[in-house]
Amino acid sequence: MNPREIDTTQRPFVLIWELTQACELACKHCRADAQSRRHPDELTTSEGKQFLDEVRRFDNGQLVVLSGGDPLARNDATELIDYGTDIGLRMTLTPSGTTSLTPERIQGLTDAGLRRMALSIDGGTAVTHDDFRQEQGSFEQTMRAARATQAADLPLQINTTVCAETVDELPAIRDLVADLGAVLWSVFFLVPVGRGRVLDPIAPERAERVMKWLYDVAHSAPFGVKTTEAPHYRRVTIEQGRGIDSPKRPSPDGIGRRMGITAGNGFAFVSHLGDVYPSGFLPQPAGNVLNESIVDIYRGSDLFRSLRDPDALRGKCGVCEYRYVCGGSRSRAFAYTRDPLESDPLCAYVPGEYNGPLPKQSFTPDEASSAD
Ligand code: SF4
Repeated sequence: MNPREIDTTQRPFVLIWELTQACELACKHCRADAQSRRHPDELTTSEGKQFLDEVRRFDNGQLVVLSGGDPLARNDATELIDYGTDIGLRMTLTPSGTTSLTPERIQGLTDAGLRRMALSIDGGTAVTHDDFRQEQGSFEQTMRAARATQAADLPLQINTTVCAETVDELPAIRDLVADLGAVLWSVFFLVPVGRGRVLDPIAPERAERVMKWLYDVAHSAPFGVKTTEAPHYRRVTIEQGRGIDSPKRPSPDGIGRRMGITAGNGFAFVSHLGDVYPSGFLPQPAGNVLNESIVDIYRGSDLFRSLRDPDALRGKCGVCEYRYVCGGSRSRAFAYTRDPLESDPLCAYVPGEYNGPLPKQSFTPDEASSAD
């Protein structure tokens, strides 16, 4: 399936299901503010299967990412992957890289039909990674899990958070991504929600330099590169004069990349309780899968529809000539202003015809906490 052919008014390119918020770790950037115990009102196995049946209505081959917390904190994760695979969904997983990722467990997930494993690396060494994830030994566990993933012939994706604490680590992490034989490096530009409020985002000018560097990486590395919550990467690639998209490499799991998807527009997030959000970083619910179809919420809710209308955007994003291919991070706009249609404060670009106020680019944890 060519990801560019997906009509994102009708279906998301990526649907994330947060199986649980339970996790052994307490990472500094955790969106979920993960808990040590599972919530008693998480979707049950049976409710989860009914939800996946509804997801199947989007289309055959819908991409579903099981996330958390640590999705492997639920002992039905393999059963749900097996079920989703059987009904034609493409199931992928973003575990926390903990001790639960044994070679046997990874083989079991692969046998159940898992299409891709995504692991997080946020430092180029054990010291920096473990410090960021606040867990001694996490780096070594992640390396072991990455090698076991390779041994199981399961495509590997590496996720990295970009913030002031990690940005200098990016070259070393790039080398690790190559050494581990990953198919994709997913680079997430911090949105200050959850525990991530205590971290420092990088400045827009630094983000611009990082994106230009990432574009060069994408053209030289043996793996693909995508950004998350930074759609202005697309503008940067256009300005670089090399066209919109990064190099097209065939992916062994058939999961393509699609640039320019944003919260509610190619992207949807379902919480452990079944609440549906445009993204995991935009805490405005549009419904709940226990009493409404995910398909109807995605296609028809006012929130999702407004997020898909570039002409509804405000501030400099609203007049920007790149708004149809970029549109800015709606999650970051909401985190800073409580208005998901406002400008993305991480973008350094100012459209020529714009003479209004610039989005506030500084941020304090107290201000952030009011964005819930
Ligand atoms: S101003 Fe907004 S729409 Fe324009 S490039 Fe920046 S984030 Fe994208």
